[in-house]
Amino acid sequence: VLPLVAILGRPNVGKSTLFNRLARRRIAIVDDTPGVTRDRREVETEIGGRKVRLMDTAGLEEAPPETIPGRMRQSTDTALDMADVVLLVIDARFGLTPVDKTFADILRRAGKPVILVANKAEGRAGAASAMEAYELGLGDPLPVSAEHGEGFGELHEAVAEAL
Ligand code: GDP
Ligand code: MG
Repeated sequence: VLPLVAILGRPNVGKSTLFNRLARRRIAIVDDTPGVTRDRREVETEIGGRKVRLMDTAGLEEAPPETIPGRMRQSTDTALDMADVVLLVIDARFGLTPVDKTFADILRRAGKPVILVANKAEGRAGAASAMEAYELGLGDPLPVSAEHGEGFGELHEAVAEAL
């Protein structure tokens, strides 16, 4: 069985865009509209020279706000149970939200390798919010742009090291 790399994070940070780029073929649907129903997707792909299963997570987009903590917990727990490495994606442009902090808390306690991925960092955007990302206690944020394909050499290396 191949090691599992799970992509987690709140809606709209660019998880599916990251998934598509790491999968090198478009399997996930990238949609600007929150509220679109999307299932968990999984592909086999190669990251950092290693064959892995890559999982995109969703589901929060469909949840009414009052159920978000429960849904998040459920989808996070399921992915966490199975994952060998977690990519926690945050939005370098938008900055941190309480939901990002909740994800970070859960992941710190899970004790699995986590790579903190600061997406939407093209052209050095979000250099300032990288500072606040240290607060999450998950180490150095790794700046990438899933849309523009920046930072992927480093990301591939980080995943390979964590496996
Ligand atoms: P998800 O909800 O976390 O799966 O996020 P999506 O992959 O659906 O992306 C949400 C939005 O962010 C879309 O409008 C994407 O085009 C946009 N997006 C994703 N990656 C980047 C990026 O690297 N830079 C910028 N500026 N926008 C991005
Ligand atoms: Mg998505």
